[in-house]
Amino acid sequence: MDTPRKKISIAGAGPVGALLAVMLGKKGYKVDLFESRPDSRKTSVYQGKSINLALSDRGWLALKAIGLDEDIRQHAIPMYCRVMHDIKGNLTQQPYGSDNQAIWSVSRAGINEQLISLAEKEPLVDVHFDHRLTELNFEDASSRYSTDGHNIKHHQSDLLFGADGAFSKVRRLAQELPRQRMSYSLEYMPQSYVELSISANKDGSHKLEKNALHIWPRKDFMLIALPNTDGSFTCTLFMNHEGELSFQTLNTQEIVTKFFEDNFMDALALLDNPIENFLGKSASPLCLVHVYPWIINNKVGLVGDAAHAMVPFYGQGMNCGFEDCRILNELIDEYDHNWDHILSAYQQERKPNCDAIIELAKRNFVEMSDLAGDENFLLRKKIEAKFHTMYPQIWVPLYAMVTFSPHITYSQALATGEIQKNIMDEIMKLPNIHQDWQQDHVYQLLHKLAVEKLEK
Ligand SMILES: Cc1cc2nc3c(=O)[nH]c(=O)nc-3n(C[C@H](O)[C@H](O)[C@H](O)COP(=O)(O)OP(=O)(O)OC[C@H]3O[C@@H](n4cnc5c(N)ncnc54)[C@H](O)[C@@H]3O)c2cc1C
Repeated sequence: MDTPRKKISIAGAGPVGALLAVMLGKKGYKVDLFESRPDSRKTSVYQGKSINLALSDRGWLALKAIGLDEDIRQHAIPMYCRVMHDIKGNLTQQPYGSDNQAIWSVSRAGINEQLISLAEKEPLVDVHFDHRLTELNFEDASSRYSTDGHNIKHHQSDLLFGADGAFSKVRRLAQELPRQRMSYSLEYMPQSYVELSISANKDGSHKLEKNALHIWPRKDFMLIALPNTDGSFTCTLFMNHEGELSFQTLNTQEIVTKFFEDNFMDALALLDNPIENFLGKSASPLCLVHVYPWIINNKVGLVGDAAHAMVPFYGQGMNCGFEDCRILNELIDEYDHNWDHILSAYQQERKPNCDAIIELAKRNFVEMSDLAGDENFLLRKKIEAKFHTMYPQIWVPLYAMVTFSPHITYSQALATGEIQKNIMDEIMKLPNIHQDWQQDHVYQLLHKLAVEKLEK
């Protein structure tokens, strides 16, 4: 007779917890998924953060593992390029990849709700809304939940995953364990963000190019816009939380109006009540989390933002959390349900890779907010894209490694990206590179350097 599968609890039914519940349910585990919030499908008010986000190949691969990719794709909009809006309203386009490669704008609530509905269809998965994890025994994975602020429910399982986001309660409880050596840091970025919107035209069409991610790069701050299927755009303004030009100093109707007029003239005409909305919202912080270990007593593990919250500038937070689930799912087969081996391999494989994407995401603010409008930077990208077309086996640009190449790990992408940067620094020093960039000698040198340095 087969040994019965473990009982597994998951705290947090965000996108990552919900995906993990589906995967574990399909593998034959009895799963209890606990979410502190009410069911957003019933309240019709989604209380999570960020209205839409960019899904890319790492996320798609994980969704494919549970057969949900095609359903999600029907409600997603491909964004094939960045469209940069300069201060005068001139537009330039930069493709994200080659051969119609795209990142996809999806509704965060939509994908979360689809995953929860799928989890509920699994016979072995139970979803409990309005259940906030408050206590956890790290010796036997038993946990307690507050159901209405007073009532406490006890739950026994063999294993518990904390998928409860950047400010994870599971992680905080682990840090308080007397003998647990837990390294931890939470770094606030100088930038915070507010979300604004551009509504659809009367006929439901989009007011800006639909199949693109729009960026208004202004060096120390930027506005971005991602399309929604109803014809609207969700826009996010990132800027310093405090300092000379910041959320703190933009505090009157007059100052904010001048700020939008000076910096986002073309967007100002399209945004829905930007001044009132800007002043009426408090800016949300952005932070990144490093923590180690992710596994405690082989009884409790961390996944998603609870293990590796990052800033959104590479559009990878959720993709990376989905990748955690995919890797766990594969390790279950590889180690034939032996959880001591699965958990240890999961931590060993994911921790360095998540450190790498946290670092890449942090650096990418500069690329998006400043360099995206810089002539030298755009030329570098064009040369790299051309070289990639000529020698796809030798050169995959960093953005494409992270976004479109799920079989290249984040750590490999970071390391290769460093070498590529040094090579491109040399190429950009060639005399007359702005005129000669299409000439053969540029690509001959690039090939020589790439073979020498990348294939070492
Ligand atoms: C502005 C912005 C833009 C972003 N854009 C992108 C993007 O383009 N692409 C991308 O891939 N990622 C993006 N991200 C990141 C992405 O939103 C996160 O990485 C993703 O939501 C993480 O999912 P999660 O399930 O791990 O955590 P969360 O989404 O935070 O979900 C955690 C869940 O746990 C619940 N919970 C919390 N505490 C408890 C408790 N004690 N008990 C029970 N339940 C609890 C919460 O209610 C929540 O539902 C963006 C983030 C921001 C802020």
